[in-house]
Amino acid sequence: MPQILLLEDEPAIADTLLYALRSEGFAVTHVQLAREALAAFATQPPDIAILDVGVPDGNGFDVCRAIRKTSELPIVFLTARTEEIDRILGLELGADDYVSKPFSPREVCARVKAILRRTASGRGAEPAAALATSPAAPLRLDEAAQRIACGGDYLALTRYEFLLLATLLRRPGRIFSRAELMELVWAEAPDTLDRTVDAHIKMLRAKLRERGLSAELIQTHRNMGYSLTLSL
Ligand code: CA
Repeated sequence: MPQILLLEDEPAIADTLLYALRSEGFAVTHVQLAREALAAFATQPPDIAILDVGVPDGNGFDVCRAIRKTSELPIVFLTARTEEIDRILGLELGADDYVSKPFSPREVCARVKAILRRTASGRGAEPAAALATSPAAPLRLDEAAQRIACGGDYLALTRYEFLLLATLLRRPGRIFSRAELMELVWAEAPDTLDRTVDAHIKMLRAKLRERGLSAELIQTHRNMGYSLTLSL
């Protein structure tokens, strides 16, 4: 049973979320304060954290940063303000997703399930024996599972890292401009900045290097954009 840490100080929102998540079979620890969230994380690390941005003793961003010092667990933000979304999408926080208030509890459940499905193998929780790769195709897009295979298992990617790499993988060799990538990947987040694309590319390259692949798998084309190389 997946464990969820929920930080939300508004009782009405917390109650509907708790009900929906528990109905889906999740075990949820609910806290209302940032320091309680950190204490709960330290005591029993969850499989995923859902963090409200504004809480009485601080904010979800600080909680996220503290968690990220020791853990890559998936983190979803709950936010009521559009100006917060830019910060969430910016990479410094390492969040996996966000949901804007007002939201339906069902939407939150769907996001949580999608993220857990996408990250489970990447984090080693599930064997991925059937994946064969050749040096010519070090990465393989699994559209059905919304994951990207690398070697014998899956890359652990945030939502936008996945969407970005999947876009490049579908058309190897094709150069995508930043504007195109923003359109294709961040379609639902209209305030995205050029540097958001660059920052995500940087993170993806770091993850590829961690897996023993060349960062040059994703090529930069000066003044044009990015492509997935054909030659590796
Ligand atoms: Ca709040």
